[in-house]
Amino acid sequence: MQGRVALITGGSRGIGYAIGERLAKEGVRLAVVARKPEEAVTRLREKGFEAVGLPMDLEQADPAEAVAATVEVFGRLDILVHAAGLNIRKPALEMSYEEWRRIQYLHVDVAFLLAKAAAPHMRELGWGRILFIASIQSFIGGGPLTITAYNTAKTALLGLMRGLAKEWAPWGIRVNALAPGFTKTEFNVPLWSNPESYQLFASRIPVGRWAEPEEMAGAGAFLCSEEAGYITGQVLVVDGGYLIY
Ligand code: NAD
Repeated sequence: MQGRVALITGGSRGIGYAIGERLAKEGVRLAVVARKPEEAVTRLREKGFEAVGLPMDLEQADPAEAVAATVEVFGRLDILVHAAGLNIRKPALEMSYEEWRRIQYLHVDVAFLLAKAAAPHMRELGWGRILFIASIQSFIGGGPLTITAYNTAKTALLGLMRGLAKEWAPWGIRVNALAPGFTKTEFNVPLWSNPESYQLFASRIPVGRWAEPEEMAGAGAFLCSEEAGYITGQVLVVDGGYLIY
């Protein structure tokens, strides 16, 4: 993977950071796209990795700008990981259309816009990897949570992933998704920081505990690797067995 370039949205922390760091360990140069990427970039550089921060609010800026900026800095783009995400946990009847649209936009529309901007650069290389971060919520109706808008977005993301995988396979571009289970990140602090709530979820996970973000790194990096050349349109579930419980 030496010399390849990856753009990672949501790369400043959590699952996006973990996947980015793993790719960097394999020689990949990183463009970290987040609202505040500076701290993560400093940490990556201190570890000897090559990384630049592209501060960007993907709900405001044109996602294609993130791709253009990455190509401007590194001269190429091999890998796109879309890990930026948000959730608004509310019953459907209490959710405004604006809140609904924010969730669909960041997870699905931004994924499309990033991929659309990235694909021509990958086509030029005859090689590309696109990884969307889906969720176990792509397959269920919330589990213990009430998050219909998020379920909708994460399920739609799989449709986008499959369609692009088919369209772009002839160009050497592989498009896949990673579906994490319940993972201890800032995204859901209230759900795992309280022991009672932690246990409510853990009791339904065969492995018996929440995941650490680093436990998503290997699977995510694998789908972006050389070895995944014959894998496309797939979703890899990393959930401690939650979905088979
Ligand atoms: P996190 O809160 O640690 O990371 C989210 C990242 O998204 C941050 O880097 C944040 O800066 C970025 N982000 C959010 N809104 C943004 C915006 N408007 N513009 C730019 N960047 C923005 O959470 P995480 O758990 O690492 O989430 C990463 C992905 O994993 C998300 O897509 C989330 O839906 C998904 N996911 C998380 C879990 C979980 O249990 N944590 C489970 C399944 C899927």
